[in-house]
Amino acid sequence: MPDTLPAGGRPTILVVEDEIPLLTLLRYNLEKQGFRVEEAADGQEALLRVAEAKPDLVLLDWMLPQLSGLEVCRQLRRRPATRDLPIIMVTARTEQQDTVRALDTGADDYISKPFAMDGLLARIRALLRRSGSLATRGTLVFRDLSMDQDAHRVARNGRALHLGPTEYRLLEFLMQHPGRVFSREQLLDAVWGRDIHVEPRTVDVHIRRLRKAINGEGELDVIRTVRSAGYALDVEEA
Ligand code: CA
Repeated sequence: MPDTLPAGGRPTILVVEDEIPLLTLLRYNLEKQGFRVEEAADGQEALLRVAEAKPDLVLLDWMLPQLSGLEVCRQLRRRPATRDLPIIMVTARTEQQDTVRALDTGADDYISKPFAMDGLLARIRALLRRSGSLATRGTLVFRDLSMDQDAHRVARNGRALHLGPTEYRLLEFLMQHPGRVFSREQLLDAVWGRDIHVEPRTVDVHIRRLRKAINGEGELDVIRTVRSAGYALDVEEA
């Protein structure tokens, strides 16, 4: 599970879409971000799935068989249980008046097809944060190193870095406590968890990988090895 989500559970997104290739693409991208995905391929099914799956957000296509997205939205807003359910309307139309209509029926936001996946994911996260289903997280910065916790991106000096999942969690923890020295055991507890048995030497292996990933040529090593004590996100003073 990516670190962008709260420990309490993965938010569920109901995707209502009758174009199966698009539905598949949305499911793939949402699951990759750690969301649970439920599907419905028409308006009637959408209303049933909302009642059964109790999603945290509905991504609702406008043009649907049986019942239009607009009508689904209207019905959801009339029911007390779903009056405040976050809804993003997906429309193939671009006319201004249609987007106004979508918002008038109670959709919280809308996006026009064709859309960029990154843009849609950003709107989904923003809406989930507003409704309290997603914890607010921000960007961690240490010197020329930055970590966007929402987008799960790490950069140094504007250059995108590619980290494995363990190196990402390790760096995230260190960036949350810059300058503090942690023993291998403390890092194991914080990054791997207490229940997992891992040799303290494993930390050294991942620190080595992390250094390799973040320290470019001619750049300062931002991880300080403290002899017999452990590691810190810090710069060795000359
Ligand atoms: Ca459609």
